[in-house]
Amino acid sequence: MMADRLDVLIVGAGFSGMYMLLKCREQGLKVRVIEAGSGVGGTWYWNRYPGARVDIQSLDYSFGFDENLEKEWRWSERYAPQPELLAYANHVADRFDLKKDISFHTKVTAAHWDAAADAWNVTLDNGEVIPARFVVMATGCLSVPTDVSFPGIEDYKGTIYRTSKWPHGGVDFSGQRVGIIGTGSSAIQSIPIIAESAAHLTVFQRTPNYSTPAHNGPIPEDDYKEWLADPRAFGARSRATSGGFWNDASADALATQTAPDDIKAELERRWAWGGFRILSGYVDQAIDPAANKIIADFIAGKIREQVKDPKVADLLTPKDHPFGTKRPCVDTGYYATYNRDNVELIDLRADPLERFTATGIKTKDHSFDFDAVVLATGFDAMTGAIERIDIRGVNGETIKEHWAAGPETYLGLMVAGFPNLFLITGPGSPSVLTNMINSIEQHVDYVARIIAHLNASQAGRIEASREAEQTWTDHCDQMAAMTLFTQTNSWYMGANVPGKPRRFMAYTGGLDVYTNICNTVADKGWEGFVIARGDQVLHESRKFDSLPPPPENMAPHLLDMAMGRVAAWMQEHGRV
Ligand code: FAD
Ligand code: NAP
Repeated sequence: MMADRLDVLIVGAGFSGMYMLLKCREQGLKVRVIEAGSGVGGTWYWNRYPGARVDIQSLDYSFGFDENLEKEWRWSERYAPQPELLAYANHVADRFDLKKDISFHTKVTAAHWDAAADAWNVTLDNGEVIPARFVVMATGCLSVPTDVSFPGIEDYKGTIYRTSKWPHGGVDFSGQRVGIIGTGSSAIQSIPIIAESAAHLTVFQRTPNYSTPAHNGPIPEDDYKEWLADPRAFGARSRATSGGFWNDASADALATQTAPDDIKAELERRWAWGGFRILSGYVDQAIDPAANKIIADFIAGKIREQVKDPKVADLLTPKDHPFGTKRPCVDTGYYATYNRDNVELIDLRADPLERFTATGIKTKDHSFDFDAVVLATGFDAMTGAIERIDIRGVNGETIKEHWAAGPETYLGLMVAGFPNLFLITGPGSPSVLTNMINSIEQHVDYVARIIAHLNASQAGRIEASREAEQTWTDHCDQMAAMTLFTQTNSWYMGANVPGKPRRFMAYTGGLDVYTNICNTVADKGWEGFVIARGDQVLHESRKFDSLPPPPENMAPHLLDMAMGRVAAWMQEHGRV
């Protein structure tokens, strides 16, 4: 069944898809959103597990494109809980009457480029095929759970829940024996709440993570006053940072060159403020292992302070990765939960999980009976949702084939050989290293600008050149190689999915730098892009020349360390 041709088909109705829809409407485009779920909100629609909430302050994690929207919405807490975030998504959808252009309960299964029409043929799981000039993948970076499975799982007679597909009516664990697998952000948020109601909770940990306290509560008065005085300026300040939120970042302090008492005082101040502030006290933390260890040791001390049993505290202390190289978690009462009589921690490194049984889980040394097991086992991040769609570009190549060695994009926005296909917060953009809502706004605004430009110049298509894609991908790889990020088996590196190519998937240069690069590319007349209509090439700029200059103020020893790593990367990848 072939539907009428659209100007733009958007996949996903999370914050990305919703804002993209609005921007397309502003241009009078014929647009439709396809969403697998039965409502808007994406992440906040699916992840309804107990304790789910933002770990970036809500004042920052809000849209900034409409002054009235900002004024009429009030967050009740510093870190909004999932129901409130979902209510916010619905409020935005209703306020701008978005739902009428969204098809819910529908999945996009394929998108094939039709060169003769300068358009995509998009196939849905209901058999419908929709021709669309532009396709926007607003499919989310953390929207597809990993295919993790365990021997014997089909024999288990109790209930299995996934944090990422939580039942809409909630789950009552009162009086139940519950097991949870995983100790990432989802688990760290849900464990304290499940422990409050369950008769007994067993946590299966393979790798401990660093977590800092949220200190959730009312929005801090100073922040609130500042926001009230000028929401525009508040948002602009956040967007002009590398992480897309104000984090009191130090410009040049080095942990290795600061007196221990001063470091302690500074880290205590940041710990007391809570959340991610601890990440931005010292500029050498992400590059110099010695600096990183100072901060990691501080957090280890905090874990010991919170957990009464020293053996449990030790098990909960990360030892295999530098602080910040896996996404840090932000918690409410996580460590103290292990002081409860009804909570136990099983170290899967010492006592590996062998199989599920009819009644629970068997590890090498123990057997456990559970009424319910929670899988908080993570996502096929950044590429998962895109690669699950059969996307075929100009040569019939699939995007999965194009990314066989890891994702390669131009600016995280487009892929060579896949014209008129845009990624929102795709691999190669700052994305998951930032406050996502600000990255989403930047990307959507930019895509809308590209579409407006094409329409104004009566062009049929835009495509990233392979040269520009290669230069950008090398730049992303080199920027990541400077840091400690690449030394850790994280989902950022694709390491949590067996067989997934190993590449650090986000751009580490910062949202502020990245935004400038994107604007320069546009101002220089769409550098790195080929713009055409049918056989006629209207604009051809194959090279990308707008790399940011090397960091100016970096301490010499850090620069040496970073450049040494880049040289090693170049050698290893034959780029010398
Ligand atoms: P999503 O919200 O993931 O929406 C994508 C949508 O696309 C989904 O609804 C999905 O159903 C749909 N979709 C995917 N594939 C298809 C298909 N083939 N067909 C049809 N529909 C499809 N970021 C932060 O900045 N701060 C936080 O505190 C934070 N907390 C998070 C907590 C959790 C539990 C998770 C999982 C992520 C969190 N994130 C956070 C990241 C979060 O994903 C982003 O902040 C943001 O919500 C992403 O919005 P999005 O619209 O790009 O993607
Ligand atoms: P995650 O960070 O990838 O954590 C998954 C956990 O499951 C890890 O502890 C992992 O252990 C474990 N695991 C996976 N497979 C396993 C197996 N076969 N056996 C035993 N353990 C296994 O996933 P997540 O917690 O869902 O978080 C993903 C991301 O979503 C976060 O990093 C964050 O960006 C976002 N998020 C944010 C918040 C928030 O606070 N706002 C909340 C939830 C999620 P290993 O480490 O050993 O692989």
